[in-house]
Amino acid sequence: MGQQVRDGFVELYKTAPEGVWSAPGRVNLIGEHTDYNDGFVMPFALPHTAVAAVSRRTDGVLRLHSADVAGGVVELRLDDLVPGTDRKWTAYPAGVVWALREAGHPVTGADVHLASTVPAGAGLSSSAALEVVVALALNDLYELGLQRWQLARLCQRAENVYVGAPTGIMDQTASACCEEGHALFLDTRDLSQKQIPFDLAAEGMRLLVVDTRVKHAHNEGEYGKRRAGCERGAALLGVDALRDVPYDGLGAALQRLGDDEEAVRLVRHVVTEDERVERAVALLEAGETRAIGPVLVAGHASLRDDFRVSCPELDLVVDTAVAAGALGARMTGGGFGGSAIVLAEAADVDTVTKAVLEAFAAAGRTAPRVFEAVPAAGARRLS
Ligand code: ADP
Ligand code: MG
Repeated sequence: MGQQVRDGFVELYKTAPEGVWSAPGRVNLIGEHTDYNDGFVMPFALPHTAVAAVSRRTDGVLRLHSADVAGGVVELRLDDLVPGTDRKWTAYPAGVVWALREAGHPVTGADVHLASTVPAGAGLSSSAALEVVVALALNDLYELGLQRWQLARLCQRAENVYVGAPTGIMDQTASACCEEGHALFLDTRDLSQKQIPFDLAAEGMRLLVVDTRVKHAHNEGEYGKRRAGCERGAALLGVDALRDVPYDGLGAALQRLGDDEEAVRLVRHVVTEDERVERAVALLEAGETRAIGPVLVAGHASLRDDFRVSCPELDLVVDTAVAAGALGARMTGGGFGGSAIVLAEAADVDTVTKAVLEAFAAAGRTAPRVFEAVPAAGARRLS
């Protein structure tokens, strides 16, 4: 796709771009709604990427174009970028430029043409791919010398403040830092990371992504409510973040919350989910990959029953896949629609896929899109 985006840039701006970059979407293996609680996550990068051809400008102008959005080039003045004022796709790349400049980096303008194969709004983080590809391009072109984790922080700031979506740091870090053939065990408190080898094919397994095509929208309420509820829970328990509630202290913490059912549910999910991430990492490192199946299923139940961010379609994928012989399955991403992942023996993939498609047809729902996910590379310069 790099060449196509390069050609698109030339056609649009009548000159060659200074370079072409790519940044992937991600699926999260385990660790959901933990990132804004300073907890653990374990995403890996998808082969689906946002690709951007970019050149610098010196006149304070930012020109943006997406091959995937109808309409022409959007031209913005850097001095006019104001957080919370842009409700369109351009807020993501413009937010990155805003965040870089706000942090004191001498970005004086850019021409951008991009295209993405990450499905938008499917819980696979098309937004972070967009942010990270632009951040990496500007970091290279303007020789800002920022490290990957710093770019991720700036992209998160762009999404939180400029776009107005209160998301955690997982998506941007995954896009910026993941490595081919590995899942990224990330401590979202200090961004310390460990690359965990994750080669399912070698062990006779597959991981499927099932995009339910039910659209979610993070910046529309529920996500923010969960986040605020977690902060409230932490305050009630007298900790900085729910990460600080130890798993073996969960019983005491819940007792302390008493009949505050809302806080009990949110705290219980976050604390048990952090433990599930650590358990999954330990299992993968011990070579007991199949044993993460039940951990995924338990994570889904917690998201469905305690955190209440699943939806009937995601539950249908998980229930059907497990009943059809999958090793494990769970929703991935923020929820309220989007995608689920299914871990299955290679030999069972066809049976499981067929069962899911038939269940959706029988329920009269739109057919989901099912594809196999293999851990791909993180953001990089293509040319
Ligand atoms: P997710 O990150 O799960 O895909 P988000 O709601 O966080 O969902 O981000 C989706 C938004 O990102 C889209 O509504 C659009 O504004 C923007 N976006 C994603 N891909 C593209 C693209 N190829 N071109 C332009 N904008 C895009
Ligand atoms: Mg997103």
